[in-house]
Formats: sequence, C-alpha cells, structure tokens
Amino acid sequence: MAEERSLNFLEEIIEKHLEEGKYQHIVTRFPPEPNGYLHIGHASSICLNFGLTKKYPGYTNLRFDDTNPVTEETEYVESIKNDVKWLGFEWKHELYASDYFDTLYEYAIKLINLGLAYVDDSTSEEMASLKGTPTEPGKPSKYRDRSIEENLDLFVRMKNGEFPDGARVLRAKIDMAHINMLMRDPIIYRIKHAHHHRTGDKWCIYPMYDFAHGQSDSIENVTHSICTLEFVPHRELYDWLIEKLEIYPSHQYEFARRNINYTVTSKRKLLQLVNENHVSGWDDPRMPTISGLRRRGYTPDSIRDFCERIGIAKRENMIDVSLLEFCIREHLNKIALRKMVVFDPIKVVITNYPEGEGELLSTENNPEDPSTGHRDLQFSREILIEKDDFMENPPKKYFRLSPGSKVRLKSAYIIQCDEVVKNEAGEVVELHCSYFANSKSGEDVSGIKVQGTLHWVNASSAIPVEVREYDRLFRVEDPTDEAGDFKEYLNPDSLKVVKGYAEPSIKHANAADRFQFLRKGYYCLDTESKEDALVFNRTVTLKDGWAKEQKKN
Ligand code: ATP
Ligand code: MG
Repeated sequence: MAEERSLNFLEEIIEKHLEEGKYQHIVTRFPPEPNGYLHIGHASSICLNFGLTKKYPGYTNLRFDDTNPVTEETEYVESIKNDVKWLGFEWKHELYASDYFDTLYEYAIKLINLGLAYVDDSTSEEMASLKGTPTEPGKPSKYRDRSIEENLDLFVRMKNGEFPDGARVLRAKIDMAHINMLMRDPIIYRIKHAHHHRTGDKWCIYPMYDFAHGQSDSIENVTHSICTLEFVPHRELYDWLIEKLEIYPSHQYEFARRNINYTVTSKRKLLQLVNENHVSGWDDPRMPTISGLRRRGYTPDSIRDFCERIGIAKRENMIDVSLLEFCIREHLNKIALRKMVVFDPIKVVITNYPEGEGELLSTENNPEDPSTGHRDLQFSREILIEKDDFMENPPKKYFRLSPGSKVRLKSAYIIQCDEVVKNEAGEVVELHCSYFANSKSGEDVSGIKVQGTLHWVNASSAIPVEVREYDRLFRVEDPTDEAGDFKEYLNPDSLKVVKGYAEPSIKHANAADRFQFLRKGYYCLDTESKEDALVFNRTVTLKDGWAKEQKKN
C-alpha cells in the first residue's frame, strides 16, 4: 500500500463535521446507472465512497440510479454488484432510485401545489429557443403561468398515459433569467412510454436525473453525496429542491473524474466498442472495465492500491496507465508462482548427458514467499530455450548463449555451447552443448563463473500453451481529444497470440492462480482456457517496456 498520506479535502470536511457534532456517523453511496459495466474510473469512486465509511463511523449504500428505462438492464445490475464485491467492498443497503418513483411523484405534486412546477406543452425546440444563453436571460414559456389546478390535472393525465412521448414535460418554476442555465426552469419529468427493467410498464413518466438523484440521497439520509465535477452546476438545483420540498438536507461534494491514458472511460463509448466488435466483450482483457481487468489478471488489491495512490483531486487530469501497471507488478511480484515457459524455442542437445535418462530438479515456487515451497523440474538430454537467447556473432558483454560461451540454466546446470547446427538455408536449428555435472544449482562445486541465467523447459515433457499478449487499446493518449471518431485511434496491434512451451506443472493451474513466466511477465489463465488447450493472458510485462518503446519511435 501507499505510504501514509495527508488527509484529502473530503476527509478534512468529514473530520470537521464529526468534530462539530454535525453528524454522529456519515452515509455515502455509490450510485451507478446500470447502463454498462463498471470501469477503472468507477473503481476510484467506489474506493472513495466505501473507503470513507471504512475510515469513519457510518456506512455506504449501493444505489442504482435507474431512472432512464431505455438504456438500463438487469445484466448490468448484476455485473455491477459482482464488481463492487470483487473489489472488496460491502454495501449496507442495495437500493434503486426506481423504488422511489411513487415518492418522487408525490414530491412533484407537492411542487405543483406550491406553485413551483408547471406542465409545459412546448416542443423541445421551442424550449431551447427560449432558454437564452449564458450571457442573455431566457424568456418564459407561454405555459408558465398555468393554474395549479390545470397543472395538477395535466400532470396526472401525463402519468395516466393520455399523451404521447414528448408531448408535455413538467418543469420546475425557478427563474428564466438565472445566471446558472440549469436553474432556468429545468425539466423534472418527461413522458416515456418505455418498459423499465424493474417497474415494468407501471410508469410512462420518468423523473429526470436532477429530480431523482438528490431526492434519492435525501430519502436515504445520505450525508455526503460525492460526485464528479461535471455536477458542480447541478448543486444549486440539488439544494433548491431539497429546500422547497423540505426534505432531509443531503449535501453534494464534487471531485475530479479519473481518466487513464490510452483508453476511454465512458460506458457509452465502451458499449460502442462492444457492439461494433472492436473487442470480444465487456470483459475483453484490453478493456478498462473492472471485468476486463479481472480477466486480464489484475487483483482487487492492485486496483485499490492504484486508487489510493492517485487519491482524489479537484481538477481533472490524465493518469498514466503505467501507474496502474506498476501497482499490479508490485502485487504480483509478491504472490505470483514462478514458471518457465519458452515462447520461440530452439532445441538444445546436451551431448554429454546420458541418452534416455533424466532427473528431477527442485526449484522455488516464489522466492518472495518461501511458504509456497518448491516444485520439481524435469531435466534431460534435450531441452528448449528461447531462440533469441542465442547469438552466433554476439556483441561484447553478451551474457547469453553463443558459440563457446557458458550460461546457467535456471535451477539446473551450467552448459557450454559447443556446436551450432544449421539447415540448408543456413538457419540455426539446434545447439549442441555440454553440461557440467558438478554445477547443479544449490550444490555447485564447479567453480565456473557465468553471468547469464536462461529459462528453459524439458523438450519431451513441455506442454504447448496459447498466450495472449495485450498492448494499449488505443494508439494515442486521449482518443476522445483527437479529430474524428475515437475508434479511428484503436491500436491494431493490441492483441498478439503466441504459442509457448510450458513446464508440465502448469497443467494444474486454476483460475485464481497468478504466474510469473520467468523473464517474460505476469500471466493468468484466461476464461476460455480448457484442460487440454491452456490459454494464458499476459497481465503485464516485467518491466515498463512502453515508455522505452515510445522514446525509440
Ligand atoms: P460513464 O460516462 O462511464 O457512464 P457516469 O458518470 O455516467 O460514467 P455513473 O454510472 O453515473 O457513470 O457513475 C457512478 C458514479 O461513478 C458517479 O458518482 C460518477 O461520478 C462516478 N464516476 C464515473 N466515472 C468516473 C471516473 N472516470 N472517475 C471517477 N468517478 C467516476
Ligand atoms: Mg451517467
């Protein structure tokens, strides 16, 4: 975890509130709209809301902000619950804004009775033309001064389904000249004959975000309603509605959205990637969704660590995805089981090792965690190493294998390259080496010093595996900030499928396991993996290769 840090601005506010006795305990909520899968930006909001009530007395609710029937689905509700739990948080109550439709309707009636809301028959174009601009006041609609009775009658008839979509809306009657455009008689109810994922066909009028969100906070006695900066202008309306309706005074606080480079964090855009098959689904390991990161091999700890490190801010800024990768490397280095896997092999024949014989060598599962113990490695006369761990004409200070040079095979013996076997085309196809029997790892008495250690697998027992290597989903840092459609900036090379030859112990891998393939990176089983056709995802490379790559180009 990150080191001790000073209080963030929300913690400061909350500590003051608790000290002053304004609250005995606090209530926060995480309020997703169930119109897609959660992404890494949501993780930041989740860690913030749940983190505050872990630190201070109180609790956090999970509230589905499901007031838009058209885009919302139960599938999304389930995935959101699953993701929050997986991140390691427990909500106190599972709530739905749609459960408040009756109450919200009553609130609307109350506003009408107070002379603070009216039914407007104008078209949306007419309303827009009367709205004014930030520097010019708006003009009142000709329906603004309808009587309370007429408004009540029309609103009930809107609810009863007498009018088609868009025919009328209910607006709060505030001030058409207000400097905050959102206060110029905002729409609070609209007609939408649409099936809702929970209330079915009971309603054909639905509250707008501004008439649902704050009121839901209030119904739930949320003390600190935390949202992102784009809602700053909405705060005035939030407070106005609470004041006029005389309901529990929740307060809204805003922090900056967290955006990560080389990806997009917007459910709407991610949905396009899914629908247009740019990725295999919401949980494609290249997606910045929680489910994508999970499938890719990210751990909840690493994501929480990342959110803690980026903290919260009052100004928008782009976070470097390298930090997320740093966090997962930190965690995986501690927990990953080490395995040897050769990707692009060349055969090594150890000519002085007896034919038909073999032995079992022992190696640590994870040197960072001795409790994980040891495993056996099969060793025999024929092994595989990486083709690029050999060079026929090496430069100076090349510590890998070359004619005449010596290297150590990890957890095995020192070998020396005696002969290079080529095919007719002149390509190296096999290496003939000799081994030093007295150089066995752990009991080496050979006195030979080598500088290179290579990973290897036993040729006859290695098992072929498929490995999926992922790169940035987009070629540019901020695809939404470029000209044209953001999808034009997709990285065509974000997925590379390669074959590998793994030590046989990998057969027992299960979904929860995390692996370090020595000298390669961190990997986990993919959900498509089968017992006789293992598939691994590369979670992250061992080092930050991207930054270096960028400098070269
Ligand atoms: P999207 O555009 O991806 O749909 P959203 O803000 O519309 O995002 P919601 O489901 O309304 O998504 O978000 C639930 C909560 O998560 C809100 O409080 C929202 O402010 C917060 N949130 C969403 N995206 C981010 C982000 N990138 N960084 C921090 N918080 C976020
Ligand atoms: Mg939203």
